[in-house]
Amino acid sequence: MEKTFLMVKPDGVQRGLIGEIVSRFENKGFQLVGAKLMVIPREIAEQHYGEHKEKPFFGELVDFITSGPVFAMVWAGDDVIATARHMMGKTKPAEAAPGTIRGDYGVTVGKNIIHGSDSPASAEREIALFFDEKEIASWEKLLDRWIY
Ligand code: ADP
Repeated sequence: MEKTFLMVKPDGVQRGLIGEIVSRFENKGFQLVGAKLMVIPREIAEQHYGEHKEKPFFGELVDFITSGPVFAMVWAGDDVIATARHMMGKTKPAEAAPGTIRGDYGVTVGKNIIHGSDSPASAEREIALFFDEKEIASWEKLLDRWIY
């Protein structure tokens, strides 16, 4: 089954939104296979956001994502990468539809609550960057027969 990397950013953790966000993906029918609260080391944050290295907001982005704990997760399910991106909403909360996580809880692009992999290649890269293989649980979700 497809896997994606999702992360409640420091603003979402501070605002007490971990439970709300986990619930949305559970209620959708996806399967949580890895999760941990962590403060991201600066060099991991720089690797994670490497594609934005030349952008003017890169320093601010790395400062922010390392400023407090994040809740890093791996979720599994059919088309989970694209579906999670739809559930997150657009990068700029002002453009994110109501009903999406960023649309419901975010105001500014810098503090937009959640990160999610945007492609199979980035999902693979980000899962490997944040999780050891032994931190990913392989388990049978009995409700799956009512979802698939
Ligand atoms: P997404 O998180 O939706 O995949 P991007 O990969 O384009 O979006 O950007 C990564 C993160 O960088 C965004 O989630 C946002 O927090 C931050 N960011 C993007 N654009 C800006 C900007 N213009 N100013 C400040 N932060 C930004």
